[in-house]
Amino acid sequence: MKAWLRFSTSIVNKSVISDIMKLFDIDFNILKADITPRGGKMLVEIDGPQASESISYMEDKGIEVTPILKVVKKDTDKCLECGACVSLCPVEAISILDDWDIDIDNQKCIGCGFCISSCPTQAIALME
Ligand code: SF4
Ligand code: SF4
Repeated sequence: MKAWLRFSTSIVNKSVISDIMKLFDIDFNILKADITPRGGKMLVEIDGPQASESISYMEDKGIEVTPILKVVKKDTDKCLECGACVSLCPVEAISILDDWDIDIDNQKCIGCGFCISSCPTQAIALME
């Protein structure tokens, strides 16, 4: 799963992330990070048999964990192929295929929701 981790000033200098990599059987990838001594946030991908335990551990230590919902193009019949959603995506997860169909790459999506609010026909939805 992908998730945003938010660090407050009091937690940012603690070794929670290196601890979970030692304590739990997980794959942990940092996709983005914006951290200063005053706190910050990190976009991560966590998988593996103990992913849930590692998330609980981080929350117990004071890290705010917000799982990212997946975006799906829910209703192909509603899509006008107008392209409004494409340019608004900050991670280039949406593309126009050769047949003008709109493709959303959930591996790239960070769940920001910009595409949803840009769509004139409510063709896109966020799902768990
Ligand atoms: S939710 Fe955000 S990141 Fe995901 S496809 Fe839409 S615009 Fe792109
Ligand atoms: S904004 Fe909506 S209607 Fe336009 S291309 Fe994207 S999904 Fe289709």
